[in-house]
Amino acid sequence: MAAGSNSLARLMRALLIALTVLLPVSSVHADGPSKRIALTFDDAPRSDGPLLTGAERAERLLKALDDAGVEGAMFFATTNHLANAGEEGIQRLQAYGASPQVLANHSHRHLWLHRNSADDYLADIDEATERLAEFGETAPFFRYPFLDEGRDVAKRDAVRKGLEERGLRNGYVTVDNYTGTWPACLAKPFGKIRSRIWQPGRARTSRS
Ligand SMILES: [Zn+2]
Repeated sequence: MAAGSNSLARLMRALLIALTVLLPVSSVHADGPSKRIALTFDDAPRSDGPLLTGAERAERLLKALDDAGVEGAMFFATTNHLANAGEEGIQRLQAYGASPQVLANHSHRHLWLHRNSADDYLADIDEATERLAEFGETAPFFRYPFLDEGRDVAKRDAVRKGLEERGLRNGYVTVDNYTGTWPACLAKPFGKIRSRIWQPGRARTSRS
C-alpha cells in the first residue's frame, strides 16, 4: 500500500507542479460580452523534461506566445529552482522578464501552507520577492504552491492579510490543462524509445 500511496503522491505532485493555468476575466463591451483568459506557467525555471530541455521549452513557449500576439502571460517563478538550474535558469528568467510576458511570485521553496506556519510561509514569499528583484518588475500576483490556501480559517486569513500587505493578489486557478503531467507520463516509456528513434545522428559504439 505504501508503494501505491507513493505513486499517488508523485502523480498528485506532477499534477500540481508546473500547472499551466489561469485567471479568467469576463468583461462586457458595448458591442456585447467578451471573455478573456490569463495564461500562466508555474514553477519557472522548470527542470529538463523527456522531450525538451528547460531552455528549449522556454524558447518555444516565448515564440508561441509571441506568434499568437499574447502579452502579459505570467511565469510564476519558484526561486529555489535557480539553485539547480544554475546560470541557464537565470538566463531563462531574464528572458521571461525581458519579453512581453511577465514574472510573478510562486514562493521560494514551494511550501505547503497547511504544513507550515503563516509566518514562515510569508517569509518564504518575501525571500522569493527579494530574489526576483534582480529580474526587474514583476506582476503583483502570488500563486499558492500546490494551490494550498490552508486548512484552517485563522492561517488562511493570516496569509491573505500578509499578501494584501505586500500588495500581492492571489493568482488563483480556474482552468488547469495539466501540462505538468505530460513529462511524468512520458518519462519512462518514451525515454527509452526516444533514445533509439529520435536521435538518428547519434553515433553507435555498440550493438549490445
Ligand atoms: Zn508550483
